[in-house]
Parts: sequence; C-alpha cells; structure tokens
Amino acid sequence: MIGRSVSALAQALTEKTISSVELTQLYLDRIARHNPLLNAFITVDGEKSLAQAKAADEMRAAGLATPLTGIPLAQKDIFCAKGWLTTCGSKMLNNFVSPYDASIIERFNAAGAVILGKTNMDEFAMGSSNETSYYGAVKNPWDMARVPGGSSGGSAAAVSALLAPAATGTDTGGSIRQPAALCNLTGLKPTYGVVSRYGMIAYASSLDQGGPMARSAQDCALLLNVMAGFDERDSTSLDRTKEDYSREFSAVASDKPLAGLRIGLPREFFGTSERSGCAPEVMQLVDAAIAEYRRLGAQLVDISLPNMKLSVPSYYVIAPAEASSNLSRFDGVRYGYRAPDYSDLNEMYARSRAQGFGAEVKRRILIGTYVLSHGYYDAYYLQAQRIRRLIANDFVAAFKQCDVIMGPTSPSIAFKLGEKAADPVQMYLSDIYTIAVNLAGLPGMSIPCGFANGLPAGLQLIGDYFSEARLLNVAHRYQQANAWHLQRPQGID
Ligand code: GLN
Repeated sequence: MIGRSVSALAQALTEKTISSVELTQLYLDRIARHNPLLNAFITVDGEKSLAQAKAADEMRAAGLATPLTGIPLAQKDIFCAKGWLTTCGSKMLNNFVSPYDASIIERFNAAGAVILGKTNMDEFAMGSSNETSYYGAVKNPWDMARVPGGSSGGSAAAVSALLAPAATGTDTGGSIRQPAALCNLTGLKPTYGVVSRYGMIAYASSLDQGGPMARSAQDCALLLNVMAGFDERDSTSLDRTKEDYSREFSAVASDKPLAGLRIGLPREFFGTSERSGCAPEVMQLVDAAIAEYRRLGAQLVDISLPNMKLSVPSYYVIAPAEASSNLSRFDGVRYGYRAPDYSDLNEMYARSRAQGFGAEVKRRILIGTYVLSHGYYDAYYLQAQRIRRLIANDFVAAFKQCDVIMGPTSPSIAFKLGEKAADPVQMYLSDIYTIAVNLAGLPGMSIPCGFANGLPAGLQLIGDYFSEARLLNVAHRYQQANAWHLQRPQGID
C-alpha cells in the first residue's frame, strides 16, 4: 500500500482491500520507525488519527465517501487544528493547543481525510532549509546530511520518505515549491486568494498561500479540490465558482498532448548572467525537461521579466514588514510562551518575546519594524511596494506572449545541513526563482525533473491568475512521459 498514489489508495479503500484504520496504522508505523531520524513531524497522535480513520470508515460504509475519505494526510504545523498542538515551529507556541480548526482543516475533515500528524517547519515559516525550527532541523530523505528545503521541509520529507501519501504546505516566497524541488515532489502554490488563510498562522499576509505537496500533479489536484474555495472569514479569500482542478487530465490520444502550448522562457532565468547563479547541473536538467516539453508539442517563446532581479530585495522589505506586524500578537498574555520571571508588564512582554522567538524571527521583526518606521517608510516600504507592482506588470505583459513560464525552482540541489545557516543572504537567495510569483500573486508549481549526483532537481511552472487546472495538466502530461516523480529515496525501507 505504502507508495501508492492518493487516487490508488482511495480506490483500495473503495474496493475494501484495506480500511482507513489499517491504512492509517501502516503510516503511523512508518512514522514511528523513521521519524526519529528524519524529524519530519513535530506532533503525532495515533489515537486521534485512528479515531478519525474509524469515522472515515463509517462514512464510507454509509455511502458518503468523497475522493479523500479515509486518506491520511500530513498537515504543516502552521495550520490550527482543534485539539492538536500547533507550534508553527516556534518555542513561542510550544504549549498552544488550538481551540479551533483552520479553514482547510475543516474542509479536509468534512471530506473525511485523516490528520496523520503535524509537520516540522521553519519557525513561523521563515527559512529555506528547515533549520530555523525550534524543534530541530529536518533531514532530507535523499541524503540525511542535507536539508529538505523550507519552510515546508517537514511536509516534503514526510511525503518523500513515504511517511504520508500527501501533505499541505504554505508558500510565502517559495516554501512549497523549493522543498518540493529538493525532495523530488510535486507542489503547487495557488493564486493568492484561492485557498483560505483562516487559521493558517500569518507570516506575511499579502504573500502567504497554502497548497498541496504530493508525488504527482494528479494527487495535488485531488487535494486542491478540497482546499480551494471561498471563506468569508478571510477578507482576501476570492468568491469564485467551484472548479474541478483535475478536469484537464482526461486522456488525449496523441503523442503531442500539449500541441499549441506556448512556454515562455524568461531571459532573466536563462540568460548568461543569471545562469551563473544557477548550478550548471540543475540548469542542464531544466533544459532537458524543456526539450521534453517540445516533444510533447509545446512551442518555446523568448520572454523577459525585466524587474526579476528586484524580487528578492523587495520581498525582504515587504515580508518582514508584514511579519513584524503579524507577530506583535505574541506577547505572552493570552496564549503561547510566557517568560517565567519578570517584574512588570513591559518586562513580561520583552522577556517572553526575547525567549520565545528564535534568531531568524527576531532578525525579521527588527528589519520589518525598521522599514515601517517614520523616516524610512517612504524610502524602503513604499519603494518595495512600487517594485512589487512593476514585477506583477512584467508577468501581465509576459502572459500576453505565452501560456506558462518555465525555469528552475531552486538554484541548487539540496545543500548540506549548516552550509548556509550562518549566512542569511545566501539563504535568502535560495528563493531567487520563486519569490516573484508570490509578489505577483500568481500560481506556481515545482515538478521533479531528474537527478544530479543522486539528488533531485525541480522544474518550475508559473501560470497566469487562476490557471491552476492548466498548470496541473501541463505537469501531468510531463509526468505521463517521465518517471522522475516516481523515484524514491534509497535507504528508507
Ligand atoms: N525563504 C523565504 C523566507 O524565509 C520564503 C519562506 C516561505 O515561503 N514561507 O521568507
């Protein structure tokens, strides 16, 4: 059973080859065996998971099954789940048992999916390697000496090591796509506003978006079908007609299933100057994937995103600014960590925050407070917002010439644990290809495209607003022609 796709597992449940209780137990056993080494989960609660699985089996028996009924899923620990410890990777929340469900958790619960556990992540989703987690670094199942990527690294390691059939992630600047690339997974960051942020602990609200991480585009579509939808409790949630994200998958009897598709290749990704920023072995795999797309019928278009180089600098003004405001709620008063010793209220605030937050989070709060302060607001924050608009306009212009934009997801394969941890700027540059997509609010995916030195690399697919179904199909056609996404890490039995 382990290793089957979500749809194959659903079929096994329908055919009664296995029950959800049995399936959940199989995954719990694997977690018990491998998690001590991988550190992919912060919280596992077998009793709770099995109770949900039992209810799912009853739901099936009553003829009320949905495509995800009885499927165990790993949930990133940024999503509040009622009765579950919800830490967001921080000491600040290490005693926080959520009294309510995030919107997407509600939706998965209603569909009959089972919460398999809460996955490790960079503290408050700030990071690209999972090393900022208070609960310790996550190991990459492809090489235990390397990072799984971040911030959704626990989810990526869990699915990649087959400790869960699929998982959720969140992506503020690349945190679904980059770990997907480093762990050989398929991950999708939807258009901003498609998935509700209610109950998803806020990092940078104008950029944050939840999405699926799985082994194939088909499985991602199944999860997104449940996750997406209007929610009046999130003021940026979009009220749109419900879509079936797998609607374009139906078979086409053609060896050129993507005939007519225009793939835009940004000069800024493939030109000589930026190429030097991308490891040659990654670029080679990306080039080969694009050649495969040509064989599938697509045509290549040379495009330009002239303001691309400003995406990392503007993001590192906007994201910390929003974070400094969002994280002001963690004051030791109502919930979360409170320093044991203090003499007055101000000292209680100061000590709780000083002891509860890790170094990277503090760095972002300081930067954010600085760029929002009187005298610097115009010079930094407003300027960054203007650049954000220019970047979004670049994409609008590009999508007049092409249907999908492609490039690398991450400039390198998985790096060694500790390699970049002491150098924040090097770490920030891991998201050089993903951040612009968040600034523009567009949907983006990463799909496996091969291996360099035995480690996976990702191809990034960027679509126009609300083109998730098309993106998923473009990914799916590639996955029908290749088996990269089916490769599994050796050494984890
Ligand atoms: N690495 C980026 C950051 O630290 C993106 C993280 C994310 O997408 N949550 O901000």
